[in-house]
Amino acid sequence: MLPIPLCEPNLSGNEWQYVKESLDSNWLSGGSFLKKFEESVAEYTGATYAVGISSGTTALHIALLLAGVQPNDLVITTNLSFVATANAIKYTGADPIFLDIDPETWLLDIKLLAEFLKKQCYAEGQSCFHKATNRRISAVVPVHILGNMPDMNELAEIARLYHLALVEDAAESLGSFYKGQHSGTFGEAGTLSFNSNKIITTAGGGMLLANNEQAAKRAKHLITQAKSSTLEYLHDEVGYNYRLVNPLAAIGLAQMEQLPGFVEKKKEIAGLYTQQLAVLPEIKFQKITPDVNSNYWHFVISVKNSRELIQFLATHSIETRPLWIPLNELPPYRNDLYISNENHTQQVAYQGVMLPCSTSITLEQITFVCEKIIEFYP
Ligand SMILES: *Cc1c(COP(=O)(O)O)cnc(C)c1O
Repeated sequence: MLPIPLCEPNLSGNEWQYVKESLDSNWLSGGSFLKKFEESVAEYTGATYAVGISSGTTALHIALLLAGVQPNDLVITTNLSFVATANAIKYTGADPIFLDIDPETWLLDIKLLAEFLKKQCYAEGQSCFHKATNRRISAVVPVHILGNMPDMNELAEIARLYHLALVEDAAESLGSFYKGQHSGTFGEAGTLSFNSNKIITTAGGGMLLANNEQAAKRAKHLITQAKSSTLEYLHDEVGYNYRLVNPLAAIGLAQMEQLPGFVEKKKEIAGLYTQQLAVLPEIKFQKITPDVNSNYWHFVISVKNSRELIQFLATHSIETRPLWIPLNELPPYRNDLYISNENHTQQVAYQGVMLPCSTSITLEQITFVCEKIIEFYP
């Protein structure tokens, strides 16, 4: 059996052709592929505006700025995410408040959020403040990890009640819907990532989803060095060079053509793993509620002895990975607030194993992975 990679990109569509066309056109920074790619993502997600940005991380940075996050603010997010979520919050000069996760869905615990806001925060004017520090809490950032989504209606309602901007880190959830509405379209802004391991890729890239023209225009302005004249080098604020370049957007357009097929395949992979591993009662899976139509971006199992399992599978040329270390345990974030009753994040994080789930994986490969996992747990 050949090595089974964790999650490989799938470039079997029009990628080469579109990249060639984009280079032939000599339009490198901006150009028609960027526009087409943005339109294609807007149409698929139902977002009114989609703005191509250099990465999921930089898109989140811009989304937080659009949401009005300012230096010294606090921003609530989940304790179980890829580090980029917390980094983007820090870039604005704000600090994160990490919230523990729901032990079943592995997403930000909304009950805990409501309890925290009620007991430890207060509203004044159109703002929410944290009692213990008197600092303003300006936004809440749910992260739709592995493609799953929390109860978005309830979350949006809580955000509204407490005057918190809702910014979704939808980096992993292109193709995921809550009650028929696409992830990233519920609040002030949502962000996507096209890093090479994501469900579609542009090698590196991201996108910001917004529901009003003003926000989309401001995003474009900020990511192009805040240039305010077409001729003069006049810049009206501190801007960023966060554009998504045309040849990468060309890859993205070809990937969007394949997205529906990729989502189908991811669902099939999740179904096969769930079915074949059901014989082992000690293995737990992420719970997806009936309101959520997940893209099943990455299949993860929760098991005891996760690190030993990872090593055992590696000896059979099966590439797997642990889940992310809880954000509150990472050196740059150890001094930030962590709100938790039972620290579910720790258990889920250290028991999580990401299984191979490239869209090119075969039934035989999935069966082989499952056989080896079953062999490991006698
Ligand atoms: C991948 C990812 C990001 C960052 O995206 P990049 O394009 O790599 O910058 C942010 N948040 C989450 C949850 C991610 O998985």
